[in-house]
Amino acid sequence: MKHQKLEALVREMLVELGEDPEREGLERTPRRVAEALTFLTSGYGSDVKEVINDAIFTQRTNSMVIVKNIELYSLCEHHMLPFFGRCHIGFGVSKLARVVDMYARRLQLQERLTEQISQEIMESIDAIGVGVMIEAQHLCMMMRGVEKQNSVMVTSSVLGTFRDSVATREEFLALIGRRSD
Ligand code: ZN
Repeated sequence: MKHQKLEALVREMLVELGEDPEREGLERTPRRVAEALTFLTSGYGSDVKEVINDAIFTQRTNSMVIVKNIELYSLCEHHMLPFFGRCHIGFGVSKLARVVDMYARRLQLQERLTEQISQEIMESIDAIGVGVMIEAQHLCMMMRGVEKQNSVMVTSSVLGTFRDSVATREEFLALIGRRSD
């Protein structure tokens, strides 16, 4: 019931693509696609305050905390195809993975996603600085042969001390295993 309209649209799309939505293998596809898309765009409905709760405010901020390799799956807003990879954040806390999901589960651009995550963390924990780096592969490029099959797009966003201090930025890059060029 919930996804009726989306289901109808997916069924229409299948017809437009030359398929028969009534054939056995596709019978339940519109429902599955509607459910998957709803889940993959659930980030719009998330509440930041709920995602980042009080735990974040008790973090010590006098040493750099790094959370590496937060799994990331998003949809590019140009083709609505997946891009996926890893996100590394300096000044991390345990709820960071959920912040990443909240912004990833929307139609996105990798650059904007990186900035939204860093800004959210900066504002929410009143940090003196934050660094976020995302390494991701875009299926819209890989599947269409636009880019080399294994090319990884790297984006980063640094704020506060991470932007102002070369030493802090270098420490962040060293800790996540990358050097600035
Ligand atoms: Zn795309």
